[in-house]
Amino acid sequence: MSLILRNVEVEGRAGLDVRIEAGRIAAVGECLPRARDEIDGRGGALIPGLWDHHIHILALAARDASLDLSDVDDPGELARRIAGATAARPTGRWLRAIGWHEAQMGDLDRATLDRLAPDQPVRVQHQTGALWALNSRALDALPAGDDPAGLDRAAGHLWRGDAWLRAKLGSDPPPLAPLGARLAAMGVTGLTDASVTTDATAAARLAGAHRVGDLPQRLCLMSGGPLAAKDDGAYAVGPVKVLLDDADLIDLDDFIQRMATARASGRAVAVHCVTAAELALTLAAFATAGARPGDRIEHGSVIPADAIPTLRDLGLTVVSQPAFVRERGDRYLRETDPADRGDLYRLASLRAAGVPLAASSDAPYAAPDPWAGIAAARDRRTAGGRALGPAEALPARAALELYLGSASCPGGKARRLSAGAMADLVLLDGPLRRVLSAPSAEAVRMTLIGGRAVHGA
Ligand SMILES: [Zn+2]
Repeated sequence: MSLILRNVEVEGRAGLDVRIEAGRIAAVGECLPRARDEIDGRGGALIPGLWDHHIHILALAARDASLDLSDVDDPGELARRIAGATAARPTGRWLRAIGWHEAQMGDLDRATLDRLAPDQPVRVQHQTGALWALNSRALDALPAGDDPAGLDRAAGHLWRGDAWLRAKLGSDPPPLAPLGARLAAMGVTGLTDASVTTDATAAARLAGAHRVGDLPQRLCLMSGGPLAAKDDGAYAVGPVKVLLDDADLIDLDDFIQRMATARASGRAVAVHCVTAAELALTLAAFATAGARPGDRIEHGSVIPADAIPTLRDLGLTVVSQPAFVRERGDRYLRETDPADRGDLYRLASLRAAGVPLAASSDAPYAAPDPWAGIAAARDRRTAGGRALGPAEALPARAALELYLGSASCPGGKARRLSAGAMADLVLLDGPLRRVLSAPSAEAVRMTLIGGRAVHGA
């Protein structure tokens, strides 16, 4: 079966045709012979599908079934939202809320939540995803016995306890098809899931959703522990994810040992680094253990200038989240010493220094829309309109390319529309230059994965 997209713009050349056969690009040229199926591109740009290099798929799907508090900016409003949402539920039914941050809306603990919601089990996730606040009803539903170290029942706080929580609650998995469709509509054709908690069960669920087409995107899965590949290639096994905790940094020797374990299974290492201290420890560990292609720094939220040559020399890829500048920038500006603001979510200085750079959403902790990320990388404006690190801005074209690397080499060369390449493609509703003058997912007219239309058929 063959398909031709006629009259598209490819890499700046207008009026080209692209033929797709057996899921791959067969030819790019002018006036290609007729095929069984033909699509008129109407002069729009045809670009490689976008890859979100750091996302949390199951958490994002769960988010859609949750009360979102991220726009709340005072404790009174927080109380009203939680009380309102619980009152609307039958007794005993869990309320899952997300997006809490104490700097915006005050502290939450067991006693506070009990006042707001005495009758329903409630769990509220911190914006970082690392902490849950639980009320008494929720704690009662989680019988004691094998409490993890991160659980403080008196305070009602559970720190990094998602796997335990899931095991206790059993799973009531939200559907993945709506998310797959939403991402396809934004031109996203590949996802690297960066969840440290991914285990065989979670991986099987994602593989199953991929096989039946609910989640049509190509998948690459990180995990904290061992993860076996699937025979049918439903997902690729990505790097081992290492989470650091600034308040309790692991010992350098332990860190190097974890890297050795990853190497022994043939996997790269991806380290969560959101503070300068985490980055310093990580660079020391890579310098000792040796870095290899595919090793990554996740977030790189704070990168002091003197760390940049080390990042480059080690060949580490920084996987950034440009949209955090917009979504969280006002808080960063409040909380960061002015002298350190230039170190926040660097882009242009990393690129100029030759540090491999890729972009991602970290959804659900920011919106999954890569076009919002491209706009934020270009504008470097907070939601409140303030400039954050304007010198780190990238031209929209360069920002787009941060989403065009491959899963195994996210900061490498952008994938290209050449014969033999996978037909993971996005047809835009105009020339690329025009679309990038106001980056928006609205410009996505059609998305193909392996030559099959997954959006805009
Ligand atoms: Zn993440």
